[in-house]
Amino acid sequence: MRVLVIGAGIGGLAVAKGLIDAGHDVAVFEHADALRDGGAAVTVWSNGTAALGQLGVTLEDVGRPLHSLKSITDTGRLLWEADLADVTERLGSPTIETPRRLLTGKIAAALPAHALHFGRRCIAVTETPERVIVDFADGTSAEGDVLIGADGQRSVVRREVLGGSPARLTGWASWQGLTRSELPVAHGHQTVNIAGRVAHCGFIPAGDGLLHWWFDLPWREGDTPLSLRDLRRMFAGWADPVRPLLAEVGPDDLGFFPHIRHVVPRVWGGARSTLLGDAVHAMPPAVAQAANQTLEDAWLLSHRLAEVEGAPEEALRAYEQERRSRVLKVSRTAAFTSAQRSTPLQRVGRLPKWIATRSQVASLRSGSTVLRPVPA
Ligand SMILES: Cc1cc2nc3c(=O)[nH]c(=O)nc-3n(C[C@H](O)[C@H](O)[C@H](O)COP(=O)(O)OP(=O)(O)OC[C@H]3O[C@@H](n4cnc5c(N)ncnc54)[C@H](O)[C@@H]3O)c2cc1C
Repeated sequence: MRVLVIGAGIGGLAVAKGLIDAGHDVAVFEHADALRDGGAAVTVWSNGTAALGQLGVTLEDVGRPLHSLKSITDTGRLLWEADLADVTERLGSPTIETPRRLLTGKIAAALPAHALHFGRRCIAVTETPERVIVDFADGTSAEGDVLIGADGQRSVVRREVLGGSPARLTGWASWQGLTRSELPVAHGHQTVNIAGRVAHCGFIPAGDGLLHWWFDLPWREGDTPLSLRDLRRMFAGWADPVRPLLAEVGPDDLGFFPHIRHVVPRVWGGARSTLLGDAVHAMPPAVAQAANQTLEDAWLLSHRLAEVEGAPEEALRAYEQERRSRVLKVSRTAAFTSAQRSTPLQRVGRLPKWIATRSQVASLRSGSTVLRPVPA
């Protein structure tokens, strides 16, 4: 089958890898002139590394394996700590923090160069029972048997095949960055999340002395994004490493991302089209699962299409149905976690490590397709 993939982000590249390995003829069309090299870093949890592993991509040589996830209050009191080495053992796959450019670079390196087409912005889709045709902004077009919209939060493919269903702002935003740091947290294997009453922040080592840091705060459309000076003032007095980190970074290191959440439809495409990743289920970054869910989509979709030679509709709908229930669960958790100004734990005390670790395992399993047996 000839498969057209729109978008060379995490999901588009990953699904292309699975489909090419299954023997399909795949073309990925990306609006930018090259792979995106910004976007700070991504936590790839056990479900994400398992999906990548099934697709034949390992992250052993990129980023930083994480062995612990600690949550403290803004005064430095421990709330809970999950043992991620134990999680890795129980789920059979590690948690890795990696700069986004290394993740996309790693998946792209596993694809034949002729599969990637840069500088091609999809502007329209025409679907017939026999074919699907994509028009690009440069006046060219492409024809295939199946179309996969992997074109992110403001998906043109979604608009074309499902009609307008814009993502909603949640009322929160992240200010984040990825910088080289001498702080001890940048050189360990532990993620530190700090929960305050009206804001949260976190620090994650991403390998090679890089530190991924983020500050989440309520934000309304029309508000001016906070500056570094604002963050220094608002987070003054917070537990380490907040103050030294904010002292060592510069204004150019700061990226601003309003949080959005999609309504996830029941059906994700037409007779010859579907969506994956942020194009269909963008969610707030609170539980750092969106890219992982995207990788799960890519793995399952390529698995479902592997044997298809004729009409793909049944396989496409089966993929959507299987993924939707998992994705909805994770998206709800992300929205709930993100909207909470303070957790009950902040008032009542500390969770034992074994409970925090088991909860982490249970939550990864319940939001995953790949960590469960593959449905026949
Ligand atoms: C602040 C922040 C922190 C995050 N942290 C994490 C984390 O720690 N863990 C995690 O799992 N997730 C995280 N995420 C979410 C994660 O970044 C996304 O879920 C993931 O990138 C989705 O991948 P995707 O391939 O669906 O979309 P994208 O990565 O957005 O890729 C879409 C691609 O499509 C291209 N494109 C768009 N429109 C067109 C068009 N019309 N024609 C052709 N090409 C087009 C774009 O240029 C882009 O390359 C975070 C998100 C944010 C905002």
